Amino acid sequence: MYPLNSRVAKPSSGSLTVHCISLGCPKNRVDTERMLASLGLFHPVDDAAQAEIVLVNTCGFIAPAIQESTRTILDTALRIRDVAPRPLLVVAGCLVSRFGSELRKALPEVDLWLKVREEPLLSEKISALLEKRIASLDAPGGRILSTTPSYAYLKIGEGCNHRCRFCAIPSIRGKLASTPVPALLDEARAILDQGVSELILVAQDLTSYGRDLGLRQGLETLLSGLNRLPGLRWLRLMYLYPAGLTPRLLRFLADLGPPLLPYFDLPLQHAHPEILAAMGRPFAQDPGRVVDRIRRHFPGACLRTSLIVGFPGERPGHFKALYDFVARVRFNHLGVFSFCPEPGTPAATMPGQVGIQTKTRRREKLMTLQTEISAEILAECRDQDMDVLVDRSSPEWPGLFEGRVWFQAPEADGSTYVSGEDVRPGMMVRARVQDTETYDLSALA
Ligand code: SF4
Repeated sequence: MYPLNSRVAKPSSGSLTVHCISLGCPKNRVDTERMLASLGLFHPVDDAAQAEIVLVNTCGFIAPAIQESTRTILDTALRIRDVAPRPLLVVAGCLVSRFGSELRKALPEVDLWLKVREEPLLSEKISALLEKRIASLDAPGGRILSTTPSYAYLKIGEGCNHRCRFCAIPSIRGKLASTPVPALLDEARAILDQGVSELILVAQDLTSYGRDLGLRQGLETLLSGLNRLPGLRWLRLMYLYPAGLTPRLLRFLADLGPPLLPYFDLPLQHAHPEILAAMGRPFAQDPGRVVDRIRRHFPGACLRTSLIVGFPGERPGHFKALYDFVARVRFNHLGVFSFCPEPGTPAATMPGQVGIQTKTRRREKLMTLQTEISAEILAECRDQDMDVLVDRSSPEWPGLFEGRVWFQAPEADGSTYVSGEDVRPGMMVRARVQDTETYDLSALA
């Protein structure tokens, strides 16, 4: 491996930063130097993570050289994986000429492949890639992704038209303001162009999407467009207002199918009609109705909800109804929060405030129940083959990766720890579940 030769590169303010690795013979080194020269003025850096462009000129002459080249590409991709903005990774040389099509499939994180004799194209292709990147950043919703290479959030609107009595969001973020469908499709395409496999739609209430724009079935229109985008493997919806999950919408979602996941994140907040009415929430007469409705359309649906304990006026009987509801429904994922009086909300000054110890005890009781339910549900996955989207390598255990199966949302649910040959962050791998715990799975690819 040869370091970048500083004779061909003079630091210049405003020029590109380049990290270069030239493998193989002196002829390859000359090719490397020519490619560098074609870039014009640039600033060489020793660390790939500090560069805007990382160039690996490979050797594919004999088996050890192939291994070294492959290893170098993988190590380099790993080094720059979590850098934002991620440097452009260019791989050139003999290995590309010999195994180009296989490499392209196996290493989607490489931005540009150049065979031998294509070196003169470097400058032009780099310019095109940089322009595309700048255009995607300048576009409406342009972003630097800070999540792992596997997933990204797509925020489809801001604000909320509901008036739940415990919530300060409408006064902070205002009324519903949806982003138009074409802008969201452009933003999603730009994200997927970066190799992301999973898009997660977020807003205060996805089911209201588009009403402020005069769209009667806004979410349906948006999902129809998103579900067709090339490169999208999983489409996940988070924060579905229960009353918005109408029979019509559920029928539409069932007909739409993959990559939309049958994952339903519906914040129910409580299950007793009196507490729901006091909260200003829907389904006050029959809080389980929406759950039954989802399960009629999606018998294998994953259900996540969040609940509030200790809302003003919550008596032991109310809490028992909530506990029995959780035991009956058996949510896959559950978040339980103790009521917190937010200044400026009607609930903050309601009579019947519940003491902190009671709230804590009720929360712990529900979470204890949920640990049993979660462990039992996950145990059913043992020995099943499942797709695992790999998020990151484990910082403590070399060869172990952290990822998720379809019913695990990032940052909210448990994880799947996966190991096996050729597993890398950003990949979707097929793996057999070996072991299960309360919230996590272990699998072998
Ligand atoms: S809890 Fe959710 S639906 Fe209710 S007002 Fe707040 S943001 Fe809107």
